[in-house]
Formats: sequence, C-alpha cells, structure tokens
Amino acid sequence: MTIPTSAASTNDSTEQNSAQTSVDGRCTSAFSTTAIHAGYDTADNAEACNVPIYATAAFDMHTADHGDALAAGTVSGFSYSRVANPTTTVLERRLAALEGGAEAVAVGSGMAAVSYALLCAAEGGGRIIASSSLYGASVDAMLSFFPQFGIQADFVDDINDLEAVESLIRPETRAIFTESVANPSTEVADIPALSALAHRYGIAVIVDNTVPTPYLYRPIEHGADIVVHSTTKGITGHGNAIGGVIIDAGRFDWSQGRYPQFTMTEQVISDERNGKFYSFWDKFGFLAFIRRVRLKYVRTLGAVPSPFNSYLQLVGLETLAVRERQEVASATAIARHLSQHSRIERVNYAGLGNTGQASLVARDFPDGVGTILSFTPQGDESRVLRIIDAVHVFSYVPNIGDSRSLIVNPARITHREVSARYLRAAGVDDRLIRLSIGLEDTTDLIADLDQAIERAYQD
Ligand SMILES: *Cc1c(COP(=O)(O)O)cnc(C)c1O
Repeated sequence: MTIPTSAASTNDSTEQNSAQTSVDGRCTSAFSTTAIHAGYDTADNAEACNVPIYATAAFDMHTADHGDALAAGTVSGFSYSRVANPTTTVLERRLAALEGGAEAVAVGSGMAAVSYALLCAAEGGGRIIASSSLYGASVDAMLSFFPQFGIQADFVDDINDLEAVESLIRPETRAIFTESVANPSTEVADIPALSALAHRYGIAVIVDNTVPTPYLYRPIEHGADIVVHSTTKGITGHGNAIGGVIIDAGRFDWSQGRYPQFTMTEQVISDERNGKFYSFWDKFGFLAFIRRVRLKYVRTLGAVPSPFNSYLQLVGLETLAVRERQEVASATAIARHLSQHSRIERVNYAGLGNTGQASLVARDFPDGVGTILSFTPQGDESRVLRIIDAVHVFSYVPNIGDSRSLIVNPARITHREVSARYLRAAGVDDRLIRLSIGLEDTTDLIADLDQAIERAYQD
C-alpha cells in the first residue's frame, strides 16, 4: 500500500498535508493503517519499504535560482536539517494525521514541545491559564522561568472548574493549557467545555496529550487548537529516544487582536528586494501558529530532533495501538487488584470508572485513560521506599510509556522541582507511588507488586 505524498518544503505555503487526511485535516483511514502508512511514499525514497534515516545536515540546492526559491519558500524541498529533514517530515505528517491536525512540527523533547507551544502563544507579555496538575517541568517553566521572559501563568487547581477558569481570563490571556490526562493523578480534562469557554473569548486551547496518546484520545476532535506530546513516552513506546511534537488543528484565528506576533511583519518570510513584507497570518493564514513554531522557534532556538530519533519514533508508532490495548488492559487489572489490597489506602486510575469523573471518562475515553496509575500504601514514606527497593520486574525509572513496567516516587523524582502547594494540587505527596504499565505478562506484574508490598511490611 502506497500513500502518495511528496517530500515538500515546510516553508511552502501551498503545501498540503498527506493524502491520508482530508482537507479539514481529519484522518480518513483507521488508526493503525494511518500509524503505519501515512505521510510516506516509497517512490520518493528509492522504493525503501521502511522510512530511511536521512543522516545529512544539508541538501543540494542544485542551481542558484533553485536555491533562491528554496530560501524564499516558493518551491518545495529541503535545504538544511535544522529547519526540516525528510525522515522527520514523515513523522510529522503521521502524527498530524493520527491527531486529526493540519500540520505538525517535531522537536527534540517533550519539554521543547511544551515550551515552544506556550511561548509561541504568549510571547510579548501574554498570560497562560494552566492546570496546577501538570508535569513537574511544565509547572516549573511557567512558575519560575517564563516570567523571566515576561510571560505569566495563572494556575487553577481544578481545570474543569469553568467558573474559576473564566475568572482568570484577562485581556493578556493567550492560552489555556492542560494535560488531557494528568500525570500521575490520571484526572481527565473536559476539553469540549474548556474549548467552548476559551473560544468565546478568542483564546486558544493547548493540550498536552502525552498520557493517553492519540490512540486513546484526540483533543482536536474535542475542540482543542494545539496538541503537544512528549513522544518519548507512549508514542516511541520503548524508552529508547527523547522526542516531542506540536500539532496544529489549523482552524484557530490568530488575527483577531490578542496575538500581535502573528500580524506583525517578519523578515524571514518577507521579500525585501521586491518591497513585499508579510506577517505569519498574511502568508500562512490558519497555519500561522505551526509555521511560526518552525520558522522562529525551531530555527532560532534549535531543539531539532535527530533523524535517527525520528526513525525510532516511526517504528514505535507502528505498534502503538496494540501496545496501548494490552497496556490499558493490564493497567486496569493492576488498578483493580491494588484497590482491593489490604495494604493499599488509595488507587488513582480514572479508567476504573469509580471516581467523580466516571461520566466524563465514559463519554470521552471509551478505550481507556492511559497506561499509568498511582497509589498510596498504608503507613509512612518508609514503606514507599521499601516497596521500590523490593520490586524485581518493575524498573525504578523516571519515565512512562515504556514497554517495560516502571515504578517511581514522584514527589522525590519526577515532580522534585514542584513546590508543596502545587504538589498537593497535583495529588502528589511523599507516600505516592506511580506505575507505568508495560508489556510484561499481567500476572507477573501483579505477583511482583504483591511480593514487594509484602516485604515492605515485614518488620
Ligand atoms: C515526560 C513528559 C513531558 C516532558 O517530555 P520530555 O520528552 O521528557 O522532555 C511533558 N509532559 C508530560 C505529560 C510528560 O509525561
């Protein structure tokens, strides 16, 4: 099966998304077919069945005329791998298709994706309304780093409390940012309600969709404007590469006053010799955001993925659906087992459907909320440390979404940069253990946890 698509330049305003998606960006094939085929044409790649790793910094521009046209973005093609690379382009098209987006930019890490997306929306003194219950480095960025660049955040403890969110909206508000499924609480966000509210004020919704992956949830179908991922996690799926992606739904109007960065003229996309000056909105319209991410953020800040890492992510994507199905089934069985365990005080897994979010989960996450869960054992933190020291199958690792099952104590490791007030809001304390469920046999995982818990309580 060949999905025809040419390797097009990323700064060509007439470029179309892969044939796998229709004009409005919706995915037209089922999930796994898209995950294996979208955005790649063997005919453009010496008939190579697997996407080749284009290990090259630059591309031959052939003639002076062609070089000029390439630099101006009036023809399709590649020139320099800090702006675009053919291996990475396939990954970008595939992820855009899977999320139902119009266009994507892959970057070197999930934090690059979060930072570039938030900065691109809020640059020049904007504010971001954000859930307090975010990945630790995202909280740290907004709380103590972005303010150094004149960008402020307004945090809300319950992102589904629409009155609280609305009360924080100001003229400078540029984005509402949340994770679709929070790590490690697994609380889910009501993206349709948040999007309806944000769009009434002309504000964009940016969603970190790392935990569910596009297999379990596609925020753009629920109203979000921009999706970011740490592709390090479920998308790559084997814990063997760091990566991130920003996906644009391609339907937000960036020209209506809140976002001056999209309507001011920019040298990089203008034609000074002919006296023609363009803004990102003039030149790219509804793709202004994602083109600005590439041409300003990736081009100048430079967190570009290596073609090899893009290749590993493409390989990972091919098995995303089967991995998620197996891991969600396993995570559900483990959550159920732990919630009946006499030593366990509390289990957080929205997928069990026994929380206050049951109806939201049933409506928006019919195939599950993801492959992580967290729990609180009885007693003090010493039990947590002993459980961690006693597991054999689980690896003690600050990661999620691996084919190996992982265990961690978030308060000391993944959320260490977060202060107590935000830890509490995220449901994290010293007694919390997070699990990321991999592909080992469920019975072995349960037996490993049981023996570790038993040993942790032998005095
Ligand atoms: C891991 C993670 C990130 C950061 O991704 P990196 O690839 O580690 O930079 C951001 N958001 C969430 C939800 C994550 O789990």
